[in-house]
Amino acid sequence: MNKPTVPDDANLPAPGIADPAAVVPPQVFRLVVEQAALAISITDAHANILYANPTFERVTGYSRAEVIGHNESILSYRVTPKIVYETLWAQLKRQRPWNGLLVNRRKDGSRYLADLTITPVLDADGQTTHYLGMHRDVTEMHRLERQVQNHKALIESVVDAAQVAIVLLDENEHVLLDNQEYKKLIGDLGKEPAATLMAALRTQIGPGFDNARASRRGLSNREVLIEQPHRPPRWFSCSISWFEEQDVSADAFYEPARRHYLLLTIQDISELKRQQEAIRINALHALLAEQERIQGLREALAGAVYQLEGPLNMLEAAVKMLERRKESPGDDPLATVLDDAVRNGRETLETLRASIPYDAGELVQPVDLNTVLHDLLKLSTPTLLAAGVVVDWQPAARLPAIQGRATQLSTLFKQLLDNAVEALYESRSGQRDMRVSTLDCGDHVEVVIEDSGPGVPEEWRYKVFEPFFTTKGADQHHLGMGLAIAQEIVARHGGTLDIDASYQPGCRMRVQLPCPRGEPS
Ligand code: FAD
Repeated sequence: MNKPTVPDDANLPAPGIADPAAVVPPQVFRLVVEQAALAISITDAHANILYANPTFERVTGYSRAEVIGHNESILSYRVTPKIVYETLWAQLKRQRPWNGLLVNRRKDGSRYLADLTITPVLDADGQTTHYLGMHRDVTEMHRLERQVQNHKALIESVVDAAQVAIVLLDENEHVLLDNQEYKKLIGDLGKEPAATLMAALRTQIGPGFDNARASRRGLSNREVLIEQPHRPPRWFSCSISWFEEQDVSADAFYEPARRHYLLLTIQDISELKRQQEAIRINALHALLAEQERIQGLREALAGAVYQLEGPLNMLEAAVKMLERRKESPGDDPLATVLDDAVRNGRETLETLRASIPYDAGELVQPVDLNTVLHDLLKLSTPTLLAAGVVVDWQPAARLPAIQGRATQLSTLFKQLLDNAVEALYESRSGQRDMRVSTLDCGDHVEVVIEDSGPGVPEEWRYKVFEPFFTTKGADQHHLGMGLAIAQEIVARHGGTLDIDASYQPGCRMRVQLPCPRGEPS
């Protein structure tokens, strides 16, 4: 392309800049203004209109003939504050362009919002001779902007008034927006509750969390426990939903890009959980008391049967000996009496056996051993406090549920905990420590109960699991059936119960229960 030639004239633009008139014929400038899509007017130095283009006529409703000679104030609706005009004129007086919004009135009286730019036109002496005004009707754009602002304000006030904490996070989990309830949580949980809760959700849900995140799948009502030192634990119900937004930057105008946001709603359910726990523990208390009563009855009757079996067997042997000695045993009145006694004894034994309470079958269902042990420890708190036992409760952070019978498992662990407390109570010296822990071992879960009591001597390591074996002398409370029953419950669940011989001083009971592995949720 040829470069435009620059005439050698002092009045022409600076060197290097082509004289527009030499490149574009002067009449083209007029046509440009005439045909421009902007409302253009040219005034004298007092804002009296000298020229208006067809778009000006269309926007204002005035014909050229009607406005020429009039001041631009003909368009003023008189609601624009005086200060706006003062600023406008102060700027023009400094020979600087001004841009702003004015409320204008059309010829028909209707109003519109004008986005106006006024540029002073200077002569060769630097004097303002004219003004160039260019404006467009931005009423609709303003309406939309205000509407968006109104919606935003409405959403913000609704979100703020919500009784649950709401927080909006970007893809990097940085907080973009929050509400009053969330701000309250900052006081309770530290400077970024969202980060704490997201981390807890990740730990609780495991790989399922990142899968849900990758597929932008929402999560609803996930309960999360937040433990804090020297404070009661807090429970929150969390829901996550995703939404995407079109990128509004200029770069994304022709190549739309999306941004993803995560909306986290958090409801404090600590009080509800406390109530549920109290109800659960009361129910467990009643259930275990009933179990204990039935168990006591069962043990007493089984013990009586066991005790009666011996003498009855001896009696039976005596009858048989007498029968062998006599030729016609029916004639011996003693043999007849003994025979009757044995028969009656057998009948009594059968009656006793039949009155042993039946162990009603219980439904097999997923059981969370952490909850079972937690509830039992809670239930035993008064006993533990009275015995001065210091409990170290170490539950596994994530323990899979086992398939089992909840009441039987509660009975099992209650027995082991009671044994530990009793052993500690017996040890008159030293500190009374108890440690209860759970462990996820893949195909099984392990529960370990340790106490710093006298321990179980090596020679009794297996004997203690036998029925009616007791180291405490048989009395009303110690029939020696506790560990036998515990062993039976563990066996019914396909697990093992043993005493760790290497643990000293004290006793370490180890329960292993199989655990079917499902897909992580
Ligand atoms: P005015 O009495 O006109 O002026 C109000 C104040 O402005 C005065 O107190 C004074 O301080 C200052 N002022 C006014 N005229 C001058 C002047 N010539 N020199 C110095 N200071 C002055 N107004 C609109 O409402 N809508 C428009 O679309 C519009 N377009 C304009 C386009 C151009 C090119 C120019 C130059 C001005 C335009 N104006 C427009 C401004 C208009 O001229 C009036 O100043 C304004 O409408 C206020 O009018 P008024 O009668 O209320 O007050």
